[in-house]
Amino acid sequence: MIVTQKRDRTKLLETIKDYNSFFLVGCSECAALCATGGEPELLEMKELLESEGKKVTGTFVAKTGCQVLGTKIELKPSKEALAETECILVMSCGAGTQSAVEVFKDKPVYPTNDSMFLGNMTRLQMFDQRCSLCGECILEKTGGVCPVTACPKGLLNGPCGGTNEGKCEVSPDVECAWVRIYNRLEKINRLDDLKVINEPKNWSAQNSPMTINSRAKKEEPKK
Ligand code: SF4
Ligand code: SF4
Repeated sequence: MIVTQKRDRTKLLETIKDYNSFFLVGCSECAALCATGGEPELLEMKELLESEGKKVTGTFVAKTGCQVLGTKIELKPSKEALAETECILVMSCGAGTQSAVEVFKDKPVYPTNDSMFLGNMTRLQMFDQRCSLCGECILEKTGGVCPVTACPKGLLNGPCGGTNEGKCEVSPDVECAWVRIYNRLEKINRLDDLKVINEPKNWSAQNSPMTINSRAKKEEPKK
C-alpha cells in the first residue's frame, strides 16, 4: 500500500486561502487504511473548512483513487455539486491526486497528504516501509526481506562492518537487515543462497517516467 501522512493543516489552509468552495475526494483503499482519506477524515476536513467560513459542496470517497476511469464514472452523480465548486481537495496519495487532475480538467486540485512510501500495515495505524520500487526484485534471493529498503545502505551481499549485536549501526533500535535475512534463510533451510553473489543493482530499471501496458504484454505471441 502507499502510505500517506496528513499535511500540516495550518499550512494547508494557507495554501488554499484563495478559494471559498471545495469538493473533497478521498480513497477507500490505502488512504482510508492510513486514516488520511477515508470517511472520518473527509468529515474532519469538512468541519475544519466550515469552521474557517468555507463552503464544502460535497464529499466523495473513490473506490480506488488511482484508477482514473473508475473515479471518473463514480463521480458522475456529483456533477451538480462539482459545478459550483472552485477547488478540489484530494485526500489520498499523489497518484490519487493526479487522477483527480485528469478527471477535473478545468479545476484546481490540491493534495491534503504527503505520500511517504510503499509499505505494509503491521499493526493498527503502524506502517513499515517494505519496498523501494527498484524495478528488479531480488526477494527470492534474500529470504523475502528487502535489503534495498531495510538496509539504510542498500547492501546486497551481506552486512557492513557496523552491525552491533544484531542491530543496525545507522538505527540502533532496528534489527540489521542482513541479520534478518540470515535468520530467515536459516529458518527455511536456504542458507546456501548466501553463497551466490548478487550482481550490482541495475538502477536504470527504476527510470521515470515509466508506463507499463500489462494488456499489451499479455497479448505478446508465445515464443
Ligand atoms: S528488491 Fe526491489 S522490488 Fe523487491 S522489495 Fe526490494 S525494492 Fe521492492
Ligand atoms: S548494520 Fe545492517 S542494516 Fe544497518 S547499514 Fe549495516 S548492513 Fe545495513
